[in-house]
Amino acid sequence: MGNDAHPPQTPPVVPTGAPAIDVGLPDRPVAPARLSRISIGIDLGTSNSCAAVVQDGRPRVIPSRDGYNTIPSMVALNQRNRVVVGRHAKGQLLFNPSRTVHGAKRLVGRAFDSSVVQSMLPHFPYDVVAGEDGFCAVRLGPLTLSMVQVQALVLREVKGVAENFLGEEVNRAVITVPAYYSEQQRAAVRRAGALAGLHVERILNEPTAASLAYAWGRNVKERVLVYDLGGGTFDASVLELADRVYQVISTGGDTFLGGVDFDDRIVAFLVREFEKLHGPYKWDAVARSRLADAAERAKCALSEQESFPVHLPYLATVDGKPTALDTTLTRAGLEALVAPLVERTVQTCARVLDDKGLEPRDVDEVILVGGQSRMPLVQERIRSFFGKAPSKAVHPDEAVAIGAALLAHSLNSAEGVVLIDVVPISIGVGLPGGGGRVKRVIERNTPLPVRKEYQLATTKDDQKTFDLWIFEGEGATVAECQYLGTIQLTGLPRGGKGSVRIAVAFELGEECLLAVRAREIGSGREVEVVFTTKGTPDEVKKRLEKEASYAAAGIERPPGAGAAPPGHDGPPASTGSREIPRPASPPEPATGLKGLWSRITGR
Ligand code: AMP
Repeated sequence: MGNDAHPPQTPPVVPTGAPAIDVGLPDRPVAPARLSRISIGIDLGTSNSCAAVVQDGRPRVIPSRDGYNTIPSMVALNQRNRVVVGRHAKGQLLFNPSRTVHGAKRLVGRAFDSSVVQSMLPHFPYDVVAGEDGFCAVRLGPLTLSMVQVQALVLREVKGVAENFLGEEVNRAVITVPAYYSEQQRAAVRRAGALAGLHVERILNEPTAASLAYAWGRNVKERVLVYDLGGGTFDASVLELADRVYQVISTGGDTFLGGVDFDDRIVAFLVREFEKLHGPYKWDAVARSRLADAAERAKCALSEQESFPVHLPYLATVDGKPTALDTTLTRAGLEALVAPLVERTVQTCARVLDDKGLEPRDVDEVILVGGQSRMPLVQERIRSFFGKAPSKAVHPDEAVAIGAALLAHSLNSAEGVVLIDVVPISIGVGLPGGGGRVKRVIERNTPLPVRKEYQLATTKDDQKTFDLWIFEGEGATVAECQYLGTIQLTGLPRGGKGSVRIAVAFELGEECLLAVRAREIGSGREVEVVFTTKGTPDEVKKRLEKEASYAAAGIERPPGAGAAPPGHDGPPASTGSREIPRPASPPEPATGLKGLWSRITGR
């Protein structure tokens, strides 16, 4: 991934004096007073969300009030300044695009001033702004919502649909996220669930959920690749399935590659066709929204037929006259437009296999998930790359929710499943004096949970604090990685330069949420760990260049440091451990070590 989100310091841009609009969400998460009997699975998708439940031992998708199996992941402020969600929000997308949020999944947990968000801004028809915490928010007229609130509103709608269908309160859920989501994105979804009144029992990776749906009740022993191409994100994960054990061995993806990028290519084509006849045109938001809608309809139709007429009357005003767009898109034409995107997905599959020294022929089945995987070109490229047709065993729109429901059920029953996930993105520390270099602490594809410990020594006499700059990414430098924040070790005991030694442990729990714990080696005494998100990557880089290097202080791995051995139980005897705090977060699940194999059984 490129240089990416870092929690920035941009001040909030909530308009002052704006009338308060009640969105009906609490300011901070409130734990449900009583946990519900039923726990559901929720696929929180880019375009659509889907919920499922296990009833009488069988998983089933929960239909919405109006009989659909999915709920649009959309939130809008209507003309009467009321917040509407789901199908009601989608209903106003065409004529009110600047007040209709879709694709929040791509923005949640991302810092507004990260380069990836800045580069995407022109593509959003609504106003993406910096929220109070510096993460992405959206301004809908007089209302500013954080992306976490947007996702919370979608989740609350899903909760309501489930309660309506099941006829009882539902406040427990397993929620899925892309395997390639960062630590911050996972934490944001967990928080969104809590704001929606849900006790989030587990954040589950989508490919693992799809594999659960695929293998459930079939006693398979296979190596599968889950190819998940949804509305906004792409994931490829290799899993080994045996009996009730679902082990991810390699994963990769792109959180900015999905169906909407296919639509964008078609929109660009339609614009070119129109402008060929009428010259350059300044498109407004409504016209763009109509083009995007027509593009998506043409794309979906071309999965079934060879050509599709696109007719958009009154699309533009040319020389004072209403002017239509009339053209035809063929399947071959569409394929030429989007082939590079499909190629990117295949390259990711190749890399994910290569990471483990596997060849395409080593995969027993390719499981397709996500609406965009229905495209014939995708299926043909999969067939040619893997030398076999993809499996049709699961429903691409429903498999993830079904898998989440199966896990939700399994968490509450004696029939446990064993899920072993991996770290999707490497975690590292910025090296002072290293010219902005990043030292990897935990490599991607390391099985979860994982714990790595480092020893540090002070570089000055009577040094009181020690800063560690934490990054996520595969790049070798600060500029190529995503800045997660700075860990500050405070209250160090007095002592000469180099005499105070600290052991810092990085722990990623089963859900890949990061915790950092530290202790002073001499006394075993706790060292307070303070997490701050101050500083842009540039500022952090400059500081790193100025600081004395760790090499002088002797950064080193103590003997035996590394992934926790199976059966290791709990962090080292440290009282200075501290989860990375997130303001007003719901209680996070314990991320201490529970052994390499996380057996999920009944309560
Ligand atoms: P998801 O996020 O899994 O709901 O995927 C939604 C994406 O799949 C959207 O970009 C849709 O346009 C796309 N999609 C749905 N059905 C089809 C289809 N039949 N052919 C091509 N793309 C589709």
